[in-house]
Amino acid sequence: MKAYERLLKYVKVHTTSDESSETIPTTKRQFDLANILVEEMKELGIEGVRVDDKCYVYGYIPATKGYETKPSIGLIAHMDTAPSASGKGVNPQVIENYNGEDVLLKGDNSVLSVEKFPNLKELKGRTLITTDGTTLLGADDKAGIAEILTVCEIILTENIPHGKVCIGFTPDEEVGRGADHFDVKGFGADFAYTIDGGIEGEISYENFNAAKAIVEIDGVLVHPGSAKNTMINALNVACEFNSMLPQTERPEHTENYEGFFYLESLNGDTAHATMKFLIRDHSSEKFLEKKDTLIHLEKILNEKYGEDTVKIDIKDQYKNMLEHIKPCLHLIENATEAMKTLGITPVIEPIRGGTDGATLSYNGLPCPNLGTGGFAFHGKSEHITVEGMDLCTNLIVEILKRYSK
Ligand SMILES: [Zn+2]
Repeated sequence: MKAYERLLKYVKVHTTSDESSETIPTTKRQFDLANILVEEMKELGIEGVRVDDKCYVYGYIPATKGYETKPSIGLIAHMDTAPSASGKGVNPQVIENYNGEDVLLKGDNSVLSVEKFPNLKELKGRTLITTDGTTLLGADDKAGIAEILTVCEIILTENIPHGKVCIGFTPDEEVGRGADHFDVKGFGADFAYTIDGGIEGEISYENFNAAKAIVEIDGVLVHPGSAKNTMINALNVACEFNSMLPQTERPEHTENYEGFFYLESLNGDTAHATMKFLIRDHSSEKFLEKKDTLIHLEKILNEKYGEDTVKIDIKDQYKNMLEHIKPCLHLIENATEAMKTLGITPVIEPIRGGTDGATLSYNGLPCPNLGTGGFAFHGKSEHITVEGMDLCTNLIVEILKRYSK
């Protein structure tokens, strides 16, 4: 079976995750796909196939006889789709020999336009898969699952020598919890790749260090007519706090390796205000400096307005995986060499966000990310091509071949 045929099957299963849910997985419906994958994996001849009570799917292909000492490589993708758009009733449009021009999405008569997505021009001549405009596509990350299982089918049916290959499918990646309950030990891989990204040839192994800061401000509320030298307006203190941060270090003014302070929300009244900041930086030194800056502001404002006016609580969210990938740069070298063999141009860019691979890398499983061939994730403009998926599939096979040398 071709990878896109699997994709078209999986996107029919509604697997949207839910940020507001406290359950594991955040939505029960993710088990619907997990159970289908378990059956398919067994049919393919994958061993040790299981889905656990937290909706993580695992399995492995034992090493070819004589290749048992080769590194065991993990392949990981996620089953959920982003809550930012509906993932229910997905009805893809498959356009053969795509002409490189605007595409009418027939479900809501909207247009997937070349002006907005100039990458479409490069896809001319390919078989393009889009949404019908009423949902997202779910190529993020069902394309990753489809490619991984197609790789399994290829190495099992074509008798390609390989080390142990471990397969893992996670729930809840889109709500930042995909790696939380991943059984790294039971998975059994020495190294892994998440297959969860954009264009074929994309390989990422640097991401942000991330923290969130909650700033609570207690004001002093008195009648405004007699407020002189008494009132402390929490909202004004909040504005002052924000104005003391470097204005150029905001998301809207930064790119590439530039970090930022992002004021995500500000709520309150005179008596009390709450601000939520996201702090991001690739450099761990600059990341620490940013956190120190916030603590310094807390101190300065408390000296000005009185102790306990400002209280800040900073929590780390995830870290840059780079320092865990550096000792195993073969993961990057083997991938880029495999790309060259297949005529794919490597696209290496720092991720301005986090990935499950970052958390897994910190939990002892070095795990860069590879593209799936998809574009414009998390909304109705999402699209992918049959050829791009084939390239990504072949790339993974090629990487496994390299690790068996
Ligand atoms: Zn994804």
